[in-house]
Amino acid sequence: MIQEFGAEYAYDNHFEPHEPAEGDYVLHYSPAGCLARVTHVGRADADAGDSGEVMELPRLADYPRRPGSVTYLFCLGEERFFLALDERVLVPAGFAYESVNWLRRAEPQHLLFAAATGSQLDRWYRANRFCGRCGAQMELAPRSREVVCPECASIVYPKICPGVICAVTSCQGDDEKIVLTRYAGRTTALWALVAGFTEIGEPLEDTVRREVMEEVGLSVKNLRFYKSQPWSFTDTLLVGFWCEVDGDPTIAVDHSELKEARWFSRSEIPLERTGDRASLTGEMIERFRLMGRAAWE
Ligand SMILES: [Zn+2]
Repeated sequence: MIQEFGAEYAYDNHFEPHEPAEGDYVLHYSPAGCLARVTHVGRADADAGDSGEVMELPRLADYPRRPGSVTYLFCLGEERFFLALDERVLVPAGFAYESVNWLRRAEPQHLLFAAATGSQLDRWYRANRFCGRCGAQMELAPRSREVVCPECASIVYPKICPGVICAVTSCQGDDEKIVLTRYAGRTTALWALVAGFTEIGEPLEDTVRREVMEEVGLSVKNLRFYKSQPWSFTDTLLVGFWCEVDGDPTIAVDHSELKEARWFSRSEIPLERTGDRASLTGEMIERFRLMGRAAWE
């Protein structure tokens, strides 16, 4: 998954005020994406988003002029990452704004994780420049990851939206099946699992039951937590569950959200996710394809 890479790049998000050194990473984002230098390797005819890209992120020394407003983000091992909050910076030679989502298969993975996590914090800082309660200009707290209002003392913390990934299964003897879905209206719709955001006042288990009922019209039982993963592309913390269909297995697709949904036996599961190293969805589909019910037992 996107957060799983070498131990030498262990994620440390303890917030301490630091000043960036010339060799530290300083990320900058525009509406077009993250400042990065992407080198295409391998097949010249590789499709966009195919594996075959190596990415670099800018270090302070790369900038022709030092950004004016820089805040500390996190460490990955010995590497320190900062964020330039300036509206504009002078773009370092060879760098351009690249869609973070498009880079999802780029190497090395720890820089992809840094770019994605940095994009979530960048969105949060930019969305909270003014107090939502009184309208005053917010200030960065000196010793913690929060912004505070100097007028009314309102405090805003980084935004993390929980959501669930639901692997709906049916296992009777050797007949092991899983529900896969495809979104409507997306050009890159891969087969996926039922998924959705947790609503206010709702425990995660109820999110699973509600989303499965809404999207494919099935009741489920025997929910089992699998793993969670940060998914900064949508400000989300994803929580993966295995569950079993309870009663009638007839699928009723919610066509306002999904293009299609159906049961797949293990041998029918498409291999399009086999190379997906980033997502919890991909890991769960592949695990069921290889292991069946042993995926959770
Ligand atoms: Zn205020």
